[in-house]
Amino acid sequence: MEAIQNLLQIAGKQNSDAGITPESYDKMRCDWYNQSRGSLTGDDCPKCRNKGSIAYLQDGVEMHRICECMAIRQNQSNITQSGLAETIRTKTFDAYQCKEDWQTALKENVMHYAEKNRPQWLYIGGQSGAGKTHLCTAVCGVLLQRGLQVRYEMWQTIFRDLSQFATRQERFHQLTQAQVLYIDDFLKPIGGNVSDTNPKEISIAFELLNERYTRNMVTIISSERIFRDLLAADKALAGRIKERCGGYLFAIMRSDEKNWRLR
Ligand SMILES: [Zn+2]
Repeated sequence: MEAIQNLLQIAGKQNSDAGITPESYDKMRCDWYNQSRGSLTGDDCPKCRNKGSIAYLQDGVEMHRICECMAIRQNQSNITQSGLAETIRTKTFDAYQCKEDWQTALKENVMHYAEKNRPQWLYIGGQSGAGKTHLCTAVCGVLLQRGLQVRYEMWQTIFRDLSQFATRQERFHQLTQAQVLYIDDFLKPIGGNVSDTNPKEISIAFELLNERYTRNMVTIISSERIFRDLLAADKALAGRIKERCGGYLFAIMRSDEKNWRLR
C-alpha cells in the first residue's frame, strides 16, 4: 500500500509538472499491481506473479480478473488434500498390467467410467490382490486432473470415526460433502469371512451412503465383498449402491486357485 501511495504521489507531482492525466494514473496503478509479486504457492506463474489475479482497465475503471493459474493451484491443492498424492503417481491406468482377459475387460470398463462426466458410482468387489485399489486410484487420478475434489478414505477409519461421539458429527459432514469419495476396503470382513457382518457397521454404511445417494455425490468403492455379499448383508444398502452404479458394478471372482474371472 505504501508503495502505491508513493507511486501516486510521484505521479501527482508529475501531473502538476508534466501534464499526466488521471487515465495515466489508473494505467500506472494497474501496471504497478501487475508487476508486484504475490505470495501464492504451488505454481510459479509469470502472468500474475503469484497473486492470482491480473489488473486491467475497463472504461477507465480498474478491474481484476482471475488468472488461469488458479485452476492449476486448485488442482494441486485438491491432490494434496485427497490423501492420494503419492499413490496417483504410480497407480495409473498405464501402469495397470493386463495379463488376463478379465483384467483387460475390467480396465476398459473402468477407463470408460473415468472418461464419462456423469455422477455415477463405481463399485469393484473381489478378493484382495486383484488390483481393485489400483484401478480405483487410477480413476481418482483422472478425476483430480479434471479438477474434481476427491477424498480417499479407508472404510475402517470411517467406521471408527463415525462410531465415536467425539468425531462423528464433523466426520459425517466431511464425508458427505466430499465431491468424490473413494472408500477403500468397504465393509472389510474381519477374519476374512464375507458372510460375517456387523449390524452397527451396516447401519453406519447405510447412513453415509444414503446421504451421498440423496445428494447425488460420486462415490467410488472397492471391497472384498462382491454385490451378492452386500445383498445378503443388507438389501437397502445394496439397492442404493446398485442404483447409483448402474453398469459400473464389478465383481472379480476366483474361479479356481489360479484363475480369476470378471462378472
Ligand atoms: Zn497466474
